[in-house]
Amino acid sequence: MWTSTSCGTRATGFPAPSSAIRRRPRRIFRAEVSLSHEATQPKKVVVVGAGWAGLASAHHLINQGFDVTLLHDGSEPTEEVTSRGFWYPYRNIFSLVDGLGTKPFTKWIKASYFSPEGLEVNFPVFQDQPKLPAPLGALAYPQFPRLPLVDRLTSLPLIAAVIDFDNTDTVWRKYDTMTARELFKQYGCSQRLYQEVLQPAVQASLFAPAEQSSAAATLGVLYYYLSHQQNFDFVFCRGEVGVKIFTPWIESLESKGLKLLKNSTLTDMNLNEDMGCISQIVCGGYVYEADAFVLALGASSLQSIIQSSHVLQSRQEFLNVLKLSTSDVVYVKLWFDKKVNIPNAANVCCDFDDSIAWTFYDLNSVYDEYKDETSTVLEAEFPCASDLLPLKDEQIVAVAIAKLTKCIQEFEDAKVVQHKVIRRPKSAIQFSPGSYRYMIRGATSFPNLFMAGDWIVNRHGSWSKEKAYVTGLEAANRVVDYLGEGEFAKIISVEEDEAHIEALRSLNRRANELFTQLPISEFFL
Ligand SMILES: Cc1cc2nc3c(=O)[nH]c(=O)nc-3n(C[C@H](O)[C@H](O)[C@H](O)COP(=O)(O)OP(=O)(O)OC[C@H]3O[C@@H](n4cnc5c(N)ncnc54)[C@H](O)[C@@H]3O)c2cc1C
Repeated sequence: MWTSTSCGTRATGFPAPSSAIRRRPRRIFRAEVSLSHEATQPKKVVVVGAGWAGLASAHHLINQGFDVTLLHDGSEPTEEVTSRGFWYPYRNIFSLVDGLGTKPFTKWIKASYFSPEGLEVNFPVFQDQPKLPAPLGALAYPQFPRLPLVDRLTSLPLIAAVIDFDNTDTVWRKYDTMTARELFKQYGCSQRLYQEVLQPAVQASLFAPAEQSSAAATLGVLYYYLSHQQNFDFVFCRGEVGVKIFTPWIESLESKGLKLLKNSTLTDMNLNEDMGCISQIVCGGYVYEADAFVLALGASSLQSIIQSSHVLQSRQEFLNVLKLSTSDVVYVKLWFDKKVNIPNAANVCCDFDDSIAWTFYDLNSVYDEYKDETSTVLEAEFPCASDLLPLKDEQIVAVAIAKLTKCIQEFEDAKVVQHKVIRRPKSAIQFSPGSYRYMIRGATSFPNLFMAGDWIVNRHGSWSKEKAYVTGLEAANRVVDYLGEGEFAKIISVEEDEAHIEALRSLNRRANELFTQLPISEFFL
């Protein structure tokens, strides 16, 4: 709770916490800071990072009357890659977009999964199918032209682990040191189910192979997307998210007073040693002071800042972030000379040889601007792409074509007439086994510094951009609490469990409680 000793509210406050955020050459500004104290001004908050998390924080704080500055290291705040799924349970994001009055989404999309043997799974729109108790719909409705039923049935015991995983700190610690592969083995999944379905599914959602992903993160993802039949359904944005969603969103925030500072890269932070709180953040030659700060950055961006910041290095929670791993992602957009028949808009593919899953999207059926094109435009993303990173664009395009041809042979006869390659080193967090203890929390040991992003520890239960958005709102709520002004943002919780799942969960909780009372409960590994 906000108290009279919090950094931003002391009457004797130095450096005047309510003074304006200023953009000045660093040395001049430091001399001026102690002179200004404009107590009647709205409290100042600096948010760093203009992705889903940072925009969510800025959105709520500006609506609460704070003076908000949003710093972004690029020229345009935009989600880097365009075709990203918005899944059915993204209730907070859908509610935001409804409020913006834009209609940016496609209809619900069908998806395919290809192995080197060809089409492995066709995913329907689940909400169009008769409703079955969860998770039976997710198991019954996908069409598996190759995988025998007996292999699919070996996934059933896994439901026990999903029931056990209730997203608390206790279960994260319990499953964090185990790999996803060990989990699947322990619960009796067949070799083929693992290789042809589970391994690619882990890679497509956690951007790392199952033997390098924690069982905890795997169960978190499985539970979020499979807990209700329709949760696996998704839509795409009908154009770039930056254009269709972020631009109108930012315009509406700017009309309420948001100051968006582009090309401003956070490099360091200054500490008010007397108060123990962050007094200023540093962006190259400029410093910005405020009452509270929200960092909404990816893990590798924060790692770079920690490496050069003595202030952040003084706290173990930030040093721990340096132990987290990230992976490289390469994106390729291709324009072909002819139309290739791509049955479904969204496609996951896996090469058994290097067992790295990758995805491609048919932009003709997603983007308004390519709907009437007579030739194919698509986008492919390659996570874990450290081997692609050093290659020339043309070499990467050749790899992409070879992989596409393995899925849909028609690509063999199509010529690429234009391409765009984007390399994003270290841009995807890896939920490696044992990583949970190093993940940062939303509140830090600096009382006025709060964290947001899709990789931080959080109990909401959502994933990906919905999680980023929710953690942004939570960071805003922490600012409201700390500064003692404004209303809390309403965060829509994930949909409640179906009755039978809830009953199984409470039975499981009782059994776990009983087990912990046994004298041998601590004895076994
Ligand atoms: C390959 C891949 C596929 C994905 N597919 C999906 C999908 O289909 N559906 C889905 O929901 N999610 C998907 N995601 C995840 C989704 O992209 C993220 O959850 C979401 O973008 C995270 O938002 P964020 O605001 O936490 O971080 P980011 O989007 O990374 O935003 C951080 C912002 O901070 C800025 N920044 C960084 N450093 C600094 C600095 N020093 N100073 C100032 N600004 C800085 C960056 O430029 C960026 O704008 C995917 C991710 C990857 C890697």
